[in-house]
Amino acid sequence: MILPSLFALEQIKKEAKSLKQQYPNHTHSQRLNIAAISLLRTRDYHEAFTLCKKRVNSFVTYSGCFAKCEFCEMRFLHEEEGDIKLHEDRHLECEKALHELGFLPVPYREREDRKRPAYSELANETGTVATKYEAALTLIRAYFDRSLEGAIRNGYWRQHPSFENFVAMISLDRIPHSVEKLIRRKYGAVIGENPINPIGIPRTCGNNPPSRSLSADNFGASF
Ligand SMILES: [Zn+2]
Repeated sequence: MILPSLFALEQIKKEAKSLKQQYPNHTHSQRLNIAAISLLRTRDYHEAFTLCKKRVNSFVTYSGCFAKCEFCEMRFLHEEEGDIKLHEDRHLECEKALHELGFLPVPYREREDRKRPAYSELANETGTVATKYEAALTLIRAYFDRSLEGAIRNGYWRQHPSFENFVAMISLDRIPHSVEKLIRRKYGAVIGENPINPIGIPRTCGNNPPSRSLSADNFGASF
C-alpha cells in the first residue's frame, strides 16, 4: 500500500470543506471520514492521518533530540511542537513543489560535490569548450537548485523561473567568452531593469567562492 502524503491529507481536508453543502447535518469529522474514504479508500480520516504520519516519519532519522528529514532536508527538534509543525509545513511545501514541478532541488551536499569538479574544469587551461560548457551548466544548475530550494523554503517557488529562464537571466560575464556565447545561443538572454544576480563563476580556479551568487533573498528582491 502506498502511504498517503501530507499533500493527500490536505486534499482530504479541502474535500471535506466542499462537502458542507452536500452533508449539512454532518459534523466536520464525519465529512473528513467521507472525504478520506472517497479519495484514499481508507477506513476513515484517522487511518489516513496515521498512514500519512508514518510516511513522513519514514524520511526522518534521529540523533538525540535532533531529527533530519531526507525528503525536505530539514533539521528540527523532534520533541518541540513548534519545530514539528515547521517541519510539516516545509515537508508539505516540498511535496507540492514535487507534485507541480516534477522534481526537487538537488540537496546541498550533492550540489557541492558537483560544483567542485565543475570549477576545476572551468579553470583547466587544456580543457575544451565543450567540457567547459558542461561544467558551466553544472554550476548554473547548482545555483538554480539553491535558489529554488530557498524559494520553496520561503513559499514563493511558483514564481521561481524555470531552469531555462534562469540561465537566460544570469550574468555570465566571468566565464570564458566562448562558453558564454554557446550558452547564450541556446538559452538566450533576458535583460531587465534590475541587474540580474550574477553567479560570478571565477574565470580561474575553483578555490575562491563566487563573489556574488544567487540566493533566496536576492532572488526574491529581484522579482
Ligand atoms: Zn520533511
